Amino acid sequence: MRRTMLALLLTAVVLAGCSQPQAAAPTAAPAAPTAAAAPTAAPAAPTAAAAPAGTPDDAAIMSAIQSTLDDYAKAYNDNDQTLLESTVDPGNAPIRRLIEERFNTFQASIFGGGINWRFTVKGIERRDLGFVLAHVDRQDGGRADWIFSQVGDRWLLSEPTEKQLGERYTFESEHFIYQAYHWSDDVNQQVAELMERARAKVIEKLGTAPEEKYQVNLRPIFGLTPPSSPGALAWYQAASRPRGDRMQINLPGGFQFGTYDPAVGWQEDLFGTLAHEYTHLVHTRSFPQYYGLSDWTIEGLAEWVSDNPRAGEVSAAVASGKIIPIINRDNLTAPQDLDHLSLLSQDVSLGYGLAYSLVAYVADTYGGIDGFWKLCGAIRAASGTGEARYDKALQSAFGVSYQEFDAGWRAYLKQNY
Ligand SMILES: [Zn+2]
Repeated sequence: MRRTMLALLLTAVVLAGCSQPQAAAPTAAPAAPTAAAAPTAAPAAPTAAAAPAGTPDDAAIMSAIQSTLDDYAKAYNDNDQTLLESTVDPGNAPIRRLIEERFNTFQASIFGGGINWRFTVKGIERRDLGFVLAHVDRQDGGRADWIFSQVGDRWLLSEPTEKQLGERYTFESEHFIYQAYHWSDDVNQQVAELMERARAKVIEKLGTAPEEKYQVNLRPIFGLTPPSSPGALAWYQAASRPRGDRMQINLPGGFQFGTYDPAVGWQEDLFGTLAHEYTHLVHTRSFPQYYGLSDWTIEGLAEWVSDNPRAGEVSAAVASGKIIPIINRDNLTAPQDLDHLSLLSQDVSLGYGLAYSLVAYVADTYGGIDGFWKLCGAIRAASGTGEARYDKALQSAFGVSYQEFDAGWRAYLKQNY
């Protein structure tokens, strides 16, 4: 699974070259009034007739969306869940759940209360069924493309329902079969090209990939069957037979996608997500003997292959001494450590960044990807649990104790983040 990234494009981002259509700009010269030929004025028609009721102009929609975004930012800054709820379409339960759970995840994280959020609508595009896609810039330079719908006199965060999307259709590329919706026809083919590039990237890093065609489900909204975890950008489901395997991918053009750097476009973020999920598939199908040993080996490898260090989050954690340990025995029922990343109750995104750093540390220190597989094999062979098991595995693979390995990793974090 690939998780959303909380943070943080800390560098200034130049917006020049942004190719997003800016629907707010007038796209056509105003039509010449055909009545102009008519001789001198008939009694003036009421001027309001130019904007028929029910179709507000782009400027009015943008203004209403900005007002919603101001409330949304204030809700984040004041940790005000009631205000947050007022910014979301009350008639769409899945999108409410998504937006509220991401809010709660942020407020519980080490960044909660520490960021002054601001969101600015830069342009809109009208979509089918009365929805509007808004291009939204965040104060740190991140870009989001969110769907709004009109509720009374307001424009609120929303998305179409699964029923409104209609039937799925199937198409193929050289190595994959896709299930998609026409709602996202503007991106479906691009995703197929990115998926083939992601496969090449995984082969470059891991040396191999299966030849069979696997299925990729393209998800343009959050509220689809099967339900998605609100923290997930994408996930991989292994079936009992390879033919049943699925990669489930959240597409850009909705709240489920998260934010991206507009200077490089959403394509690069999505490429990383595809490489991450396909790494899980290759790990499962091509290296089954090294799969499922501990959470950090699974997620760390996928982040390492997709070059996703989450450096902003890891740097902040290193600077504040909030490193999630590899093994933590304080809570035996739900250990809060990298060995049990899937049980973390907060800072999951940071956990992914630290898992990446562990794989990078092993690869940089102990002989590249072969060193990582060697450690996986030693973990598999070692008996016991917790630190004792790691101690045996690390002695066998690299001739170091768990304590030495842990100290080496922490020094690596200080040097590299
Ligand atoms: Zn994953």
